[in-house]
Amino acid sequence: MPLIILTGLPTSGKSTRANQLHDYLTARIAGTKYRLHLISDDSLSISRTVYDLSTVPVHARSANASEKNARAAIYGAVKRVLSDKDIVILDGLNYIKGWRYQLHCEAKAVRTPSCILQIGCSKERAQQVNEDRLKRDQAAAVEQEGSDVPNDAPGDTTEAYEPANWENLVFRHEEPNPMTRWDSPLFTVIWEDDEQQLKRTFDSLWEAIAGDGRKVIKPNQ
Ligand code: ADP
Repeated sequence: MPLIILTGLPTSGKSTRANQLHDYLTARIAGTKYRLHLISDDSLSISRTVYDLSTVPVHARSANASEKNARAAIYGAVKRVLSDKDIVILDGLNYIKGWRYQLHCEAKAVRTPSCILQIGCSKERAQQVNEDRLKRDQAAAVEQEGSDVPNDAPGDTTEAYEPANWENLVFRHEEPNPMTRWDSPLFTVIWEDDEQQLKRTFDSLWEAIAGDGRKVIKPNQ
């Protein structure tokens, strides 16, 4: 069963859609032999700071060790579970086309399809989400200073990106190209998509990876 690779700008709603897809697929595979896995930076405890190049000298940027280590951890986690009976949702930035190519090859090696779920969101909206999270963290820090009681208020606790890190990730983002075999089939969900539209997209994704329309993977493809 397939590898579903999410991609999108930082704070564009990827984890939200990954969780919705997880719920959809959980219902879809109930009573079958298939297993479902959701792998993300959060599930592997990878901090947003590994993507931060602002402290890395310009000449060493392509060799940023912390991001490389994070990618190795993600690759290992995917490789451990990917098989023809396991569906893997990989929630993350997945913004480098060479990385998506590598993942596509890994799926092909175990004779299972891969596809891309692109999360479309305007830069302005995604930036607003990150700014809201930064403000939330600043407010929590001020509150903590004047109190001995830990702040355990419920709500969004996801780590924010430092603004320079966020900007740089947007700059580095390589949009998927459905003309290439590693970025196809490509499905897109946008921020405004309602439940009905989301279901339609997930239905077509299911059809492409597991339905009658599923592509047969040949070793030389
Ligand atoms: P990412 O995984 O890309 O960092 P998240 O899924 O964590 O983004 O979403 C960031 C914030 O935006 C969350 O607070 C989430 O509730 C909200 N959000 C995400 N997608 C939508 C959407 N389609 N409509 C409304 N709010 C959304």
